[in-house]
Amino acid sequence: MVTSQDCLKKYGPPETEKFMTVWDVPTELEYGAIPRKIYCNRDLVVPLSGAFTNVVRRGLVAEIRTWDGCFNIRRKRGATSSSLHSWGIAIDINAAWNGFGKTPTMSPELVKCFTDAGFDWGGTWKKPDGMHFQLARI
Ligand SMILES: [Zn+2]
Repeated sequence: MVTSQDCLKKYGPPETEKFMTVWDVPTELEYGAIPRKIYCNRDLVVPLSGAFTNVVRRGLVAEIRTWDGCFNIRRKRGATSSSLHSWGIAIDINAAWNGFGKTPTMSPELVKCFTDAGFDWGGTWKKPDGMHFQLARI
């Protein structure tokens, strides 16, 4: 799993935002709660585009009920290391129904759209973070 140390090594301190870009989401992926523009890490664009393509092709758009963000410089909940949101390589969706430490309600089919595209899912962690997907490698 990618750690904050890996991110520091590759991208430097989060505050520089040098690794960030504004991704204009292609029209063919603009469905439902999928945002029109996402401020994210350059390395997130291809995998996230792949995940959204999976969601659209597999007919699961309605299952993304809310987009809950990507870039956010912050500590990991209950930890001292930085969350991968600090480097814009993690996203949250359906937060209201997949709270930190709670049993996730995300369907396995929706989760697979992301894991097939190169993401790790927080829903399988010891303390589940069901809303959370992050790049499996950088
Ligand atoms: Zn998250």
